[in-house]
Amino acid sequence: MNAHLPYICGNDGLLTIKFSNMFNFILFGPPGSGKGTQSVKIAEKYNLVHISTGDIFRKNIREKTPLGIKVQSIIEKGELVPDSLLIEILEDALQQHSTAKGFVFDGFPRTIQQAKDLDTMLAKRKDSVSLVLALEVDDDEILKRLLKRAEIEGRKDDTKEVIANRIGVYNSQTQPLIDFYKGKNKFKSIHGLGGIDQIFAGICKIIDQHI
Ligand code: AMP
Repeated sequence: MNAHLPYICGNDGLLTIKFSNMFNFILFGPPGSGKGTQSVKIAEKYNLVHISTGDIFRKNIREKTPLGIKVQSIIEKGELVPDSLLIEILEDALQQHSTAKGFVFDGFPRTIQQAKDLDTMLAKRKDSVSLVLALEVDDDEILKRLLKRAEIEGRKDDTKEVIANRIGVYNSQTQPLIDFYKGKNKFKSIHGLGGIDQIFAGICKIIDQHI
């Protein structure tokens, strides 16, 4: 029996898919794999709250909050922010959206410890991770995309050296999560190459098969 039986409701001519239970979705993949773009679309279609830890950090850096000041140099070097700070941010975000029907986690978790902390936080809400979907894009394509994004957005962590570091950090600290979620039978993957709509259609197909 699947716990996430959806029902479809239409208002204003829009079809929104609602879940009778929470649906907690992790969009996984290396930096530049398109997680941000796709997460926004998924959250909209499935009526979920999008949580991007990278966006939260960038906002705090822009606003020069104590958190922003603390993490700025770490992020500019392409390193990971300490796990303890991620727990605080996630606890806060989950609390802020206590009535959400579920979440799309984008850029979180990035370490095994964060994945375990997420399980603990969701368990407190009698909840769990529903599905982890990885966007597969190879290192050469990632480098190309991030250098292009650097020209457009001017992100300080999109310089060639920092990108190389971020890819290395992803391979050593984040990739082990694949086996962690495979072990829980929650892991699926999809090619992250192609047009935005084509990739989105592939993601929706997998979500729809799961729910
Ligand atoms: P992103 O926009 O997801 O690529 O995140 C940008 C940067 O924010 C990363 O390179 C990290 O320095 C930091 N960051 C975002 N999410 C996390 C996380 N879950 N754990 C540690 N650091 C993170």
